[in-house]
Amino acid sequence: MPEISSSKPYRIGRSKTGLGLFATKKIKKGDKIIRYFGPMLDSKNKKHDDIDNKYLFEINNRWTIDGSVRKNIARYINHACRPNAESDVSSRKRKVVIRAIKTIEPGEEINYDYGTDYFKIFLKPIGCKCDHCEKKRAKKRAEARAEKLRLKLKAEKKAAKKAEKQAAKDARKTKKPVSKVAASKAAKRNTLSGVKANAHARGTGKPTKTKAARTKPLGRVQPKGASRAKRAS
Ligand SMILES: [Zn+2]
Repeated sequence: MPEISSSKPYRIGRSKTGLGLFATKKIKKGDKIIRYFGPMLDSKNKKHDDIDNKYLFEINNRWTIDGSVRKNIARYINHACRPNAESDVSSRKRKVVIRAIKTIEPGEEINYDYGTDYFKIFLKPIGCKCDHCEKKRAKKRAEARAEKLRLKLKAEKKAAKKAEKQAAKDARKTKKPVSKVAASKAAKRNTLSGVKANAHARGTGKPTKTKAARTKPLGRVQPKGASRAKRAS
C-alpha cells in the first residue's frame, strides 16, 4: 500500500467494498482533502484513447486523468450517492481536487459521487453498496416483509372466518341444533295453546276456533225437523 504522510488527514483502510479512504482527523466542510492525479490522456491521441481502466477521470471532452497510478491515493476513495466530499474539477488547469462538503469526523469514510455515467456502467449492474443505497434496500426489504406479513394475517383471518362459517353450516346439517332459546320458545307456544283450548272447553261462551270445538255445538242444536214437529203439535 502506498505510504501516506502522518500529516495527512486520512488513511487507507478496509471498507465494505474493499479498500477505502478514511479520515484520521476532523476535516472541515470546504477543506481540500486530496488531489486526484495521474497521467493526462488526450482523446486526440489514438494510443491514449485505447487505455481503459476503472480510474479514468474525465475532465472534459479532450482530457482525462488516468488515476490508476499507485501514487494516486485518491483512487481509494469510494463512491457514495450521499457523499461527504466532492470532486472539484478545474477544466482549465486540468486539475481535480477532492473537497469536503460536510464536516468529516475521524474514522469516517471519505467518499464522493462518481457521477451518473460511472454509476450506470459500473454500479447499477451490481447494485450500489453505499450507505444510502444499502439503507434504501434495507427499508425496501423491511417494507416487503411487513407487506408479506400483512397479507399472511389477512389470509389467515379469512380462512378462520370461512372455517367458522363451514362449521356452523355442518352443525345445522347434522344435529338440527335447536338452540335453547328456540326450544323454550316452542315449549311456551305449546302451553299457551293448551290454556286457550282448556278455556274454551270450560265454556266461556265465546265461539271457539279449534276444529274440535266447531263441530261440537252442532251436536247441541236440535235437528231442524224436530223443532218443526214440536211447533206443529
Ligand atoms: Zn449508492
